[in-house]
Amino acid sequence: MTATAELTGGRLATLFHAGGRWVQAHGEALDVMNPATGRLLGRVVAATVQDVGQAVEQARAAAPVCAALPLAERQRLLLRLRDLLARDTQQLARLITAEMGMPLRQSVEAQVGWCAEVIEDAVAMAPDALADDSTQQSVVRHPPVGVVACITPWNFPLHQILGRVAEAFAAGCPSVVKASELAPFSPLALADLVAEAGWPPGAFNLVSGGPDTGAALVAHPAVDLIAFTGSTRRGRTVAREAGGSLKRVLLELGGKSPSVVLDETHLEQAVRATLESCFFNSGQICSALTRLLVPRRLMDDVAQIAEDVLRGERTGDPLDPETVRGPLVSAAQLDRVRGYLGLARAAGTRMLGAPPPAAGGGYYVRPTVCLGTDPSSRLATEEIFGPVLSVVPYETTEQAVTFANAGHYGLSARVWSADRDRALAVATGIRAGQVGINDSPFDGRAPFGGFKHSGTGRAHGVAGIRTFTEDQVLPLAPGGGKGTP
Ligand code: NAD
Repeated sequence: MTATAELTGGRLATLFHAGGRWVQAHGEALDVMNPATGRLLGRVVAATVQDVGQAVEQARAAAPVCAALPLAERQRLLLRLRDLLARDTQQLARLITAEMGMPLRQSVEAQVGWCAEVIEDAVAMAPDALADDSTQQSVVRHPPVGVVACITPWNFPLHQILGRVAEAFAAGCPSVVKASELAPFSPLALADLVAEAGWPPGAFNLVSGGPDTGAALVAHPAVDLIAFTGSTRRGRTVAREAGGSLKRVLLELGGKSPSVVLDETHLEQAVRATLESCFFNSGQICSALTRLLVPRRLMDDVAQIAEDVLRGERTGDPLDPETVRGPLVSAAQLDRVRGYLGLARAAGTRMLGAPPPAAGGGYYVRPTVCLGTDPSSRLATEEIFGPVLSVVPYETTEQAVTFANAGHYGLSARVWSADRDRALAVATGIRAGQVGINDSPFDGRAPFGGFKHSGTGRAHGVAGIRTFTEDQVLPLAPGGGKGTP
């Protein structure tokens, strides 16, 4: 019996995946809500400290097996997994829509479709990342770091797991995944696909549960590296705990990314693209552009374009093909977003809202634009993780850069201008991990991560795969060495 088979029945997933087998978990049963209705979707049983220990031991046992698989074989197994995800796209997308609320059509393209991209990118970048380097005196190898604990959020449940695990696999590491307790069902389905793809038993292990289960994984002495993706607040806790045992840590955390308009040339395109970035997945994306910085003289034009975009927004049942925005993931997230809208109202901010949600009962909120937001306010500097855009007027380019750098986050940004050199100069002044210019596309083969409190380390690209390796220096040729300093 597999966990997925259980899902199709009573939607009670009591198992965790360790060493290629499904095993009974021993923790408490956690409710999983359907965000579209606010009603119970199913339950998962959390893994206890002992259950987590069993999963980590299986990964530990698989570490030499994974490391010994030739790179070409690891690439083949990854691409086989990509093909299986493609085969099961519809089923996986429905599961994800049910557990976290993204409209179904977008779940097909983004939730499942983007998994194929991260796998292909890892496969493509692995040879460069893992090839030996050399100095005149030494050869530098990149052996696998060992057992990876992968702790992930709910906003892209499979993509966030595969974003880390594909690179860990490419590097030759086994992993133990602790998926989010808010969206645990699609990860359970993934475990079966990894096994079907032919990965050795113990290469991929998966536990369900909340913060306690995650903490047990972080504390386990046989874990070598923690790849944590989630909020800055929780990331800080994980980093503190990991520091005690000197585990390696990759932290992919929150953001409050600015979209900086320098001149009117691209105004309409800039406002529309920023709104789409801010509202996509109901604003539940780490790198969403959630602050629009515009010259004050263009504020009226911005308001007009925003009103036009908002009129076309359709928030409602994620299974309805007319729906563009689904619900937020949880009642807590809805409270949080409403709290920030309350702050905007209390500050007397001019607010533009989309039509009210079509469906009742779920965790719905209207996409909202807040015009003339104070750049140092909580609304403009804290991560809301909902469809709320702060529009901040500025007077000079220097002021725009200062506002863009306000707050603790530094994940992403975008700069809009007809003058590419000017845009580049502004972009390099923004302290963020990836800064786009005009409509430049996302580069999945470049390093991804944050400055400041948006994280430490990098995923993706050569740097991302090397996150899952150590550097080992060996002499290139006998004699002639200088010795260690
Ligand atoms: P969260 O921090 O609440 O939880 C993330 C994961 O950590 C969950 O699996 C949770 O159970 C686990 N966890 C919580 N406390 C823990 C602890 N003490 N020890 C170990 N594990 C613990 O985040 P969330 O609400 O699931 O996700 C939203 C956040 O994730 C946002 O801040 C968003 O910006 C961020 N995010 C960042 C990226 C990125 O690449 N930078 C990508 C996606 C999401």
